[in-house]
Amino acid sequence: MEKTLAIIKPDCVKGGNIGKVISMIEEKGLKIVAVKMVELSRKEAEGFYYVHKDKPFFESLISFMTEGPVVLMALSGENAISRWREIMGATDPAKAEDGTIRKSMGTNIERNCVHGSDSPESAKFEVNYFFSSLEIFE
Ligand code: ADP
Ligand code: MG
Repeated sequence: MEKTLAIIKPDCVKGGNIGKVISMIEEKGLKIVAVKMVELSRKEAEGFYYVHKDKPFFESLISFMTEGPVVLMALSGENAISRWREIMGATDPAKAEDGTIRKSMGTNIERNCVHGSDSPESAKFEVNYFFSSLEIFE
């Protein structure tokens, strides 16, 4: 069993789409093993997205991710990392497949509704960044 980190981003929370996203996760057979709603500080968001710190969109991404509450989740399942990324769709909603979360609920390449870890290494870092072992129920 693999674990991955999912985030329902501020645009998606504001849009009233928490339930829709969670339904899609569960319908596709991924298990939510940890969940909490938080407002990220700038420091927390910068630490989480440190791999992007030199990208031109970094400052804007940090402002976006701290503009309102987010829902953090750890998902578990076979190939959970790639399966969750498939359910999310491509980073740019305009390029995402029909039926994906980003296609149906994302606004643009930045305000794209959800986050998912992209490798076993990042999944480990990201799940541990937000959840202690006592908060994960598998
Ligand atoms: P993904 O979330 O699909 O793994 P990245 O890791 O490349 O995508 O980027 C992290 C996040 O940064 C994206 O989900 C999106 O919110 C934002 N982002 C990525 N590329 C751009 C861009 N060119 N312009 C603005 N924001 C971007
Ligand atoms: Mg990424």
